[in-house]
Amino acid sequence: MNESVQKLRQFVIEYGLPKTDMALFGIKCLYCGKSDRIRQLEIPDELHEKMDSKDMKRYSDLWKRLTQSGDSLGVCKFCQNLLKLYLEKGKAEALYKGGEIMQVEVLGPGCKRCDDLYENTVAAASEFDPSVDIAVKKVKDINYFAKMGVFMTPGLVIEGKVVSVGKVLTVEEIKEKIKESM
Ligand SMILES: [Zn+2]
Repeated sequence: MNESVQKLRQFVIEYGLPKTDMALFGIKCLYCGKSDRIRQLEIPDELHEKMDSKDMKRYSDLWKRLTQSGDSLGVCKFCQNLLKLYLEKGKAEALYKGGEIMQVEVLGPGCKRCDDLYENTVAAASEFDPSVDIAVKKVKDINYFAKMGVFMTPGLVIEGKVVSVGKVLTVEEIKEKIKESM
C-alpha cells in the first residue's frame, strides 16, 4: 500500500469518515468480501464545515492524489480498507495497484465455527501495518475443500497453502500464521 493510501486510511479512521452512514449495497469489498459495508467517502468540499482548515487541506491533497476525475473513494466499515469506487458500474477496485495482496481463505460450509474463524482472521489481518495488504475470503465450495485436502472444516489457507484444518484459531494464532507466510 503506498504512502498516500496509508495516510488517508489513518485520517479516515481518526475522523470516523464518512460522516454520513449510507450503505452502498451490492458493492463487494475486495478485502473481506462483505457487500453491505462499503461507504462512500465525502468529497472534500462536503466536509468544509466539519473539519478545521489544516486537516481539510490534508484531506483534499490526499483525495486529489488518489482520484482521477469521475471516480470516487470508499471505505469498508468492516475491515477499514479503502477502495476506489465506480458507482455506475457498481464495483470497487483496489486503490493501490502494483503491490501484491496476500490471499487468505477461510474454508467452511457456513457453520458457526467457520464464521468464528473468518471473524478472527479478518481481525488478525487488520492488526497488521497498513503497508501489508491482506485479502480475506470465505470459501464455501466443497470441491475446493477436497482439492485442497481439507476434510475437516474450518480450514485456513494462506497463499494457496493449507495452514490449519478443523480448528478455530485465535486472532494471535492467525497473526503468527500470516507472519510465517510473509
Ligand atoms: Zn472489507
